Amino acid sequence: MIKPSIRTKKVELSEIRKMFEVTNPNAINLGIGEPDFDVPENIKQAIVDALDENLTHYTPNKGYIELREEIVKKFKNDNNIKTNPENIIVTDGASEALYLCSQAFFEKGDEILLPDPSFLSYEACINLAEATSVSIECKLENGLKLKADDVQEKITPKTKAIMLNSPCNPSGVVMEKEDIKAIAELSKDHDFLIISDEIYEKIIYGKKHYSPGAYSDNVITINGFSKTYAMTGLRIGYLNANEKFNEELLKIHQYCVACTNSTSQMGALEALKGPQDSVKKMVGEFEKRRDLITSRLIEMGYELPVPDGAFYVYPKIENPMEFVKKASDAGVITVPGAPFGKNGDKHVRMSYANSYENIKKAMDILEGL
Ligand code: PMP
Repeated sequence: MIKPSIRTKKVELSEIRKMFEVTNPNAINLGIGEPDFDVPENIKQAIVDALDENLTHYTPNKGYIELREEIVKKFKNDNNIKTNPENIIVTDGASEALYLCSQAFFEKGDEILLPDPSFLSYEACINLAEATSVSIECKLENGLKLKADDVQEKITPKTKAIMLNSPCNPSGVVMEKEDIKAIAELSKDHDFLIISDEIYEKIIYGKKHYSPGAYSDNVITINGFSKTYAMTGLRIGYLNANEKFNEELLKIHQYCVACTNSTSQMGALEALKGPQDSVKKMVGEFEKRRDLITSRLIEMGYELPVPDGAFYVYPKIENPMEFVKKASDAGVITVPGAPFGKNGDKHVRMSYANSYENIKKAMDILEGL
């Protein structure tokens, strides 16, 4: 018998993906984790042009220099992070960037601080690296926001890193500047790494996004094109890691994927350099849907913080498994909170990456449950 490794044994396939396999195809899907918009035309054209120009060969391992230069400008303008193209690695989505960080820096005996709730890949990456996750509750009384004081309490000599994600999947919550800054200070005082997943940075409603990388050198900042430019299937993201961290990450990237898809890189270049009106339009649409779904759920009596970003709501629900099953039978797909953390057994995640009309219908169905 050829046995799988202990590492892979410790990891389960995604509960969310499993749910989609068994559900009714006519149901309204509020389980989706990707924008329901198409890739903007200018980006599509840049990809077609790249093919016509035969940009189909390997690219430099870290990505085309023009793209990395543009990413450097973006970090300076949007995030107040000063960097240079050598620090940037263009990756197969933020997913690869997360995996690189965990493989390059986590190992047995390391404690990794993990906000609860958080995106389920984090725990899987921690397990695949044989490190231990230490959960930090994002309390409902704090509007599900991660607070620096709660982080401080969990720091031990074994703390190697913390995963940050603002705006957050699954709660949509945006962290306060003071907490981001204070956690950045803690990373310097206690010499741990911050892995800051900023993939929902631009999907934010009336709030400003702050990056811990502006306040500490112990930060690897991850971002990507999947959410902001609806490019999920094109598999492209990036990270910024200074000289203390970059080479170790590159070793894994180089031997794992060599480089990211060349045509997606040209699409990404256009995404950053071209007009941003499609992003504005998409975020405007998401905001209307956010207002609809939150007001309807609050009217129905559910407790939930009104999210300032991403495209998820995370209401408190006493029996999530029963709720998800009933909703699914009635024609609305939602996701139980359990895979997102220990406290998820009191929550359900709903995505509003679905049309306004469908969200309205879905809320009518849920009201009738
Ligand atoms: N981080 C978070 C918080 C996400 O929600 C997702 C996608 N669901 C990712 C990373 C992965 O994004 P990508 O498509 O760039 O791999």
